[in-house]
Amino acid sequence: MLIVMQNSATDADVKNICDVVRSLKLESHPMPGAQRTAVCITGNKGSVTPEHFANLPGVKEVIRVSKPYKLVSRETKQDDTVINIGEHAVGADFTMIAGPCSVEEESITMRLAEKIKKSGIDFFRAGAYKPRTGPYAFQGLGEEGLRILAKVKQELSMHVVTEILDTETLPMVAEVADIIQVGTRNMANTSLLKQLGKVKNPVLLKRGMSATLDEFLQAAEYIMAGGNYNVILCERGIRTFNDHCRNTLDIAAIPVLRERTHLPVIVDPSHAAGLTRFVAPLTLAATAAGAQGIIIEAHDKPTEAYSDGQQAYEPAKLSALQQQLHIVREAIAID
Ligand code: PEP
Ligand code: MN
Repeated sequence: MLIVMQNSATDADVKNICDVVRSLKLESHPMPGAQRTAVCITGNKGSVTPEHFANLPGVKEVIRVSKPYKLVSRETKQDDTVINIGEHAVGADFTMIAGPCSVEEESITMRLAEKIKKSGIDFFRAGAYKPRTGPYAFQGLGEEGLRILAKVKQELSMHVVTEILDTETLPMVAEVADIIQVGTRNMANTSLLKQLGKVKNPVLLKRGMSATLDEFLQAAEYIMAGGNYNVILCERGIRTFNDHCRNTLDIAAIPVLRERTHLPVIVDPSHAAGLTRFVAPLTLAATAAGAQGIIIEAHDKPTEAYSDGQQAYEPAKLSALQQQLHIVREAIAID
């Protein structure tokens, strides 16, 4: 249920609604917006009706939300969610994230991070814990990887994005990560999603490789329902009959998600492309379709990369790619 407040409603009116919701043993989620404040109510099994709220001070209207996802929905919050990380406003500014698939030995990781920083990108991605398809493949440097990421943060003033695989390592990962990445294989790991609802770190949630958008949005809803509203959605390609690329980048998902949700929508062209030469065209296509950011795998010695070298983008080419991207963004801004 969604309680839309009048423009004249005061903070005290909103607090009163939250108190009433709590007394009914439900959860309230105030959603301030430029035009209006709304309070979303979750946990209602049906016994609480709009009449419970309709006459409370400051209430404009009470709407039943029929969709299975509520907090993520554009109906609930009309304005785009903006997540402030350092001086960056994810969801308002275009967000560029780049780095190797895995955290590598300290000297290599520092070299890559420096090159990426030099291209004007402040967000560094690299997995310390890697969800590899086979058990004999490199599984990530683990805690040592987190230590190296902390060094990247400290010495280069970069923000780090790194993947979480399980609830056990969450406290350690949350300590270092500026953004915690949930990979495609864990999108439906509901116990992990519930724990991510309790941390303060923004979460970059990748779409499951065969998830519908409803399933994807409900995964985000799990995190928000736990109280963490800073969720970034990431389209990274899905499984189809296509065998010409690693995955099929679902370009249409971008405008559809932007219509259905207020959360930032970014794209990972690397895991969709699977090969370096297809990364730039997918980046530009995703940008044209309305992506609000790109997360890209980059390595200066792809053949020596610990993982996913075949799709790694040359860090020295990231500046040129950003210039192209800027032109696309200017083109779509023309009405
Ligand atoms: C990754 O970002 O390196 C990764 C494992 O991505 P995905 O979960 O999209 O496969
Ligand atoms: Mn990878």
